[in-house]
Amino acid sequence: MTESTQAQAQEVSRLLGIILKQVVQVVKNGLRELGWWIHEKVTLLSWAFLRIFDKSTVDGVILVDWVLEQRPFTPEAKTWLRTFVRADVGNLGKQTGGGWFYPALGRVFCYTGQHEAMLHELAHAWYQPRKPRLRKQMLAATLRAAGDTTVRYQGACKLAHGYVYGVGRWDGLMDDENHWEMFAGFASYCMGNLEVLPPYLRKLYVGLFYDWRAS
Ligand SMILES: [Zn+2]
Repeated sequence: MTESTQAQAQEVSRLLGIILKQVVQVVKNGLRELGWWIHEKVTLLSWAFLRIFDKSTVDGVILVDWVLEQRPFTPEAKTWLRTFVRADVGNLGKQTGGGWFYPALGRVFCYTGQHEAMLHELAHAWYQPRKPRLRKQMLAATLRAAGDTTVRYQGACKLAHGYVYGVGRWDGLMDDENHWEMFAGFASYCMGNLEVLPPYLRKLYVGLFYDWRAS
């Protein structure tokens, strides 16, 4: 084998290596996308199925309607949340807050009629089927916001700082990578007003809330 053919063979095998790596990457990405897609569809199918037996209570519908109509949810998000999520409220006349989201059931419960609590739980519900897809971005955006000193976003960044480094005796959310609580936390912090979130965090809420800057 001459030197030039040897160089050619090396070049060909180098190119083949690059192509193979790219093929592996495409397959990996495809499998990951497929996994996310399956997670989303299975979650929504099971919630839709449970709806047959388990409906929202009257108070649950009232509170969800109040929140969806008074905050800048997109029309798609309103339809989606009304279709897949069932709601219940303890005492509509009180405002002390607090609530739960049951991921396996697609159900939210609020102790009182406080809008912030219901918006928070609805954000949990919205995030649940999208969790695997948004996980990395959510953690990265929170970490970035924790070190962001932009005055305009100082409230959100202070919240992010607490999530990452903790506050007092509370360790925060980053140690457990609790990205779903971060998502719902920023949602109820801004109450749908994406103007107060830095752009890299704001983009995670596209589809749920109106992004005035994008329109
Ligand atoms: Zn929560």
